[in-house]
Amino acid sequence: MKERIYLLPEEGNFYKGNMHCHTTISDGKLSPEQIKEEYRKKGYQIVAYTDHKKYIPHQELTSEDFLPLAGVEVDINEIRPGKERIRTRMFHINFYDTNPEEMPEEKARYCAADYWNYDLSYVNAYIRKMKKLGFLASYNHPYWSMQNYDEYTQLDGLFAMEIYNHGCELEGLYGYNPQAYDEMLRCQKNIFCLASDDNHNEYPFGHPLCDSFGGFTMIKSRELTYPAVMKALEQGDFYSSMGPEIHSLYIEGKDLVVETSPVQKIYVKMEGKNCYKKVAPSGETLTEARFTLTGKEGYIRVACRSEKGLFANSNAYFLENMPIEFTTE
Ligand SMILES: [Zn+2]
Ligand SMILES: [Zn+2]
Repeated sequence: MKERIYLLPEEGNFYKGNMHCHTTISDGKLSPEQIKEEYRKKGYQIVAYTDHKKYIPHQELTSEDFLPLAGVEVDINEIRPGKERIRTRMFHINFYDTNPEEMPEEKARYCAADYWNYDLSYVNAYIRKMKKLGFLASYNHPYWSMQNYDEYTQLDGLFAMEIYNHGCELEGLYGYNPQAYDEMLRCQKNIFCLASDDNHNEYPFGHPLCDSFGGFTMIKSRELTYPAVMKALEQGDFYSSMGPEIHSLYIEGKDLVVETSPVQKIYVKMEGKNCYKKVAPSGETLTEARFTLTGKEGYIRVACRSEKGLFANSNAYFLENMPIEFTTE
């Protein structure tokens, strides 16, 4: 058998996570406990609590089958005299704490501060400081934030960005950001991508505008513990989805192999505008694809689309970082 490089690790279990959530601690309608209850019922094991500017670790909600991640969403808004707030741009950045045991008071203080400058050097300095405090930074919903290439490609120190935000999708069809992700990658920002709910639960469960259970991240970890899940996040051992599943992803020899739940299309996006693709005939579905790589792809990332039009996206993998021999035999 040819040697395999597992892009999603072979070992471990997939844990279903919502990486962006608001509760009654900020402007959400459900308590942290209710969020745990409802997400557990829907098969989630992980929720990152990311209330606006309020860092509360919620570690008391940890149980055998549920892991709360300590987080916060920070917003840095453009203030323009005479311009309404809904027409101004803003950086929304989620921070995930890699170790909630350390310096909780300092973290809470720093996340709650209210002296923001809408200025890239300020924002980058803020991200640096938060990284020093132990946080991973993820850039949220660029489309909703009315930001563009000139702004987000200048951000430094990110670990990820949201490729899909379900709340923004329901609010203004602003949810899906694959273009921004490719733009980041093409600027050599080697970051991961997350899908999340960003739920506020204004609408009850079952209502078509309920913002829970639409965007999730499948994290492959050896166990459901804080250090193991954080390590998996830091290493990029996850994919993001609106529905379809990516069961395995590896390179065998020079072939990229993708195994999924039934989908209509499996595409491999890369640094140039060309793609590898496998598409099911009308009325049929696919569950696997194999593509031979040339070594000239730059990065590769897999996007799968279900018959309902829902996407699962892998992280991007830069081939230069991989031990693959592409020279011809
Ligand atoms: Zn936001
Ligand atoms: Zn939010």
